[in-house]
Amino acid sequence: MSNLVLSSPLKGWIAPLDETPDAVFAERMLGDGLAIDPLGSTLHAPCDGRVIAVHGTRHAVTLRADNGAEILMHVGLETVGLGGEGFEVHVKDGDVVKSGDKLISFDLDLLSQRAKSLITPVVITNPDAFRIVRREQDHAASVGDFLMELAPVGGAGAVLAVAEGEVAREVIVPLQHGVHARPAARIAESARKFAAEVALVAGDRRASAKSPVGVMSLAIRHGDRINIVASGPDADFAVAAIAELIEGGMGESAALSPEDLAPTAAPAAVVEAIRAAPPSEPGLLRGVMAAPGLAIGQAVRFVSSEIVVAEAGAGQGVERAALEDALAQVRAKIEKSASKGDTARKAILGAHLAFLEDPELSASAHRLIAEGKSAGFAWRRAVGGYVEALRGLGDRRLAERVDDLIDLERQVLRALSGEEDEARVLPQGAILLADELLPSQLMGLEAGQVAGFCTAKGGPTSHVAILAAAMGIPAIVAAGPGVLDVTEGAGLILDAESGTLRVGPDAGQLAAAQTAIAARHERKAAAKAAAHQESRTADGVRIEVFGNVGALNDALAAAANGAEGSGLLRTEFLFLERETPPDEDEQARQYQAIASALDGRPLIIRTLDVGGDKAAPYLPIPAEENPALGLRGVRVSLWRPHLLKTQLRAILRVKPLGQCKIMVPMIASLDELRAVRAMLDETQREMGITERVALGVMIETPAAAVTADLLAAEADFLSVGTNDLTQYVLAMDRGNPELAARIDALHPAVLRMIDQTCKGAAKHHRWVGVCGGLASDLVAVPVLVGLGVTELSATAATVPEVKALVRTLNVPACQDLARQALDLASPEAVRDLCKAFAANVLKAGA
Ligand code: PEP
Ligand code: MG
Repeated sequence: MSNLVLSSPLKGWIAPLDETPDAVFAERMLGDGLAIDPLGSTLHAPCDGRVIAVHGTRHAVTLRADNGAEILMHVGLETVGLGGEGFEVHVKDGDVVKSGDKLISFDLDLLSQRAKSLITPVVITNPDAFRIVRREQDHAASVGDFLMELAPVGGAGAVLAVAEGEVAREVIVPLQHGVHARPAARIAESARKFAAEVALVAGDRRASAKSPVGVMSLAIRHGDRINIVASGPDADFAVAAIAELIEGGMGESAALSPEDLAPTAAPAAVVEAIRAAPPSEPGLLRGVMAAPGLAIGQAVRFVSSEIVVAEAGAGQGVERAALEDALAQVRAKIEKSASKGDTARKAILGAHLAFLEDPELSASAHRLIAEGKSAGFAWRRAVGGYVEALRGLGDRRLAERVDDLIDLERQVLRALSGEEDEARVLPQGAILLADELLPSQLMGLEAGQVAGFCTAKGGPTSHVAILAAAMGIPAIVAAGPGVLDVTEGAGLILDAESGTLRVGPDAGQLAAAQTAIAARHERKAAAKAAAHQESRTADGVRIEVFGNVGALNDALAAAANGAEGSGLLRTEFLFLERETPPDEDEQARQYQAIASALDGRPLIIRTLDVGGDKAAPYLPIPAEENPALGLRGVRVSLWRPHLLKTQLRAILRVKPLGQCKIMVPMIASLDELRAVRAMLDETQREMGITERVALGVMIETPAAAVTADLLAAEADFLSVGTNDLTQYVLAMDRGNPELAARIDALHPAVLRMIDQTCKGAAKHHRWVGVCGGLASDLVAVPVLVGLGVTELSATAATVPEVKALVRTLNVPACQDLARQALDLASPEAVRDLCKAFAANVLKAGA
């Protein structure tokens, strides 16, 4: 069967179905298609076919095309209430029509006064059999213009009956990191909205789609073909919704900025370091850095006491109630903890909640209770089954999620027993040694209570590692069973960067570590004390040091740490996990709160940067083969201009006007900047704002860097997003842990791009900032200053040290350093050069 092209049945503006102000259409309950905002008053046949239904009140008609596609056209919304008034129908049921034949005429004026909306959805009501492969939208069309193309379903995307009453559809998983914890939770959340039983089938494994843990245990990887199978009343819709979610890509790591969540050491780098390390020395244990830092302390064995549970229950009713009560207690505790945590903590606790609410977990516990087991025994068994399954998959990321499950097992068992985890009084300088640490155990400690920790097991991207980094606790994981042989109270030096734990150090080693720690502390304390001074180099050049912000708390932290403004507000992080886009009022409130927290200091608000590795559930992006090169950043804003318009209006409402500048992400050509500028001008006119509002661009693509002179002619400023620029210059995925050791923004190729950006900007007297991770890398700061960067937007925590470093610099020396760096051949050589430069600066300043 060949594809069918539908032509526009109406003159009007073609818009996505999502814009229809009626959930029945917007949520595709009747099928997929498009909406037309009519400028004409006659509805024509979009293809050859037969009329299968003319609605009694004459406002809607359904055609069956010759290839079987059924097309519903519904003139206006809630027009059924007009009882046929204002409509004239030219066809009747059973008529054969040709493309372009008149179907319905209507009185546009009457409808515009009496109908809820004129929007006319054109919907394929048998989407199981046809897939829209191309569609026009956000365009004016005349009758007969191309509207959309339908392909009969076959191969991937097929819906086939697999058993009586069961439907299935095969999808190819586009998610870069497969279906890990977060996408599994999203799939489960979506599946639970349907009454149908929904399962995912990968090879010979099958799991309920409503169970995040079950879905995770399928170990679905990027590119896998899987089937979504459903049965029940709304099975078709469930399959379609989950297929769309998966094919839309989701983006596993979207919840947090890479600076927040990225393991502080690249696993590959660490593995390399371990390989390159000299053979083991007595008293030296080697592991993998989980969070940076150097600590001297004493060994404190952290052994979780065994929780004993009786196997036999005291009766089904009692045990069920006890389990439900314990689950509710743990849920409340997690919610409370998440409400006051930082972004990393919130994301981790969100995953815990998803596991806790996993219906398969509680169902399997309830089954055991029904067999006469106690609630504790049943819960432990249920969790244990998944733990085994995840461990057995041979997937490092999934194995690291085991900690989370064990953590929940323990918390629920504690709640069942009515006991709190015993609070331990830890000695000064405790370095915890454990087989494994659980996220909640770490969250239960205050940052100052421990000097560090080292575990026998665990991984550098585990939630415990992320938390340790966020809490500033130096940590090593995967150091092997030797950790458990260390005598309680033994003296230790934990050097996370080199991944070593020295047991019983000699006096010389202790003295060297003490000197290094003291120097670090002194530097940090001095930096903090001087954090509120204006940032200038030693030779008086103004270098603004700003803080990156993803939430109100970041803005408060940045201001407290002396940030002179914010060079990057990642607006997409303000509105995560939402099914609907934030409206203008809500956005204006959030931006205003952040602007006020910065107390008048400049705030650069980046327009929505979704797509690629950042998903926004309210804005499903069609499946893409290569999301990093697909609809991202400004491309999404121009694809959905009404979202950009709302955002610009919200930003322009922030008082005082002028505190906020606007920045556009992922610019690849001048046209994009011009399109945003045109919309900004239009918005300002509508709002009666005559002052010029600064509009800048991010330099994240090689195209933007090499055409910086063209962009600078029209942009008010340029800010280099080194995270993306590096991934696109080096063609290395920024989220790929295997490449993490090699994707270094100090690569000479990236530096040359920054150099070109600064030169292009200088032609038009525009300033250049850096808001990517390189601005927080102290080793890189002098070379950036040398290249001509005058604004550095770093993480809030590093602001004081960046400012302190800037104060020691002389611009001509930095320029000399930059010239040398540009001629080097590798990032390693650049790093060595920069480190030597930093050591000299420090020596000179000492
Ligand atoms: C960057 O790419 O460097 C940047 C700052 O943007 P993000 O990290 O949010 O993609
Ligand atoms: Mg970016």
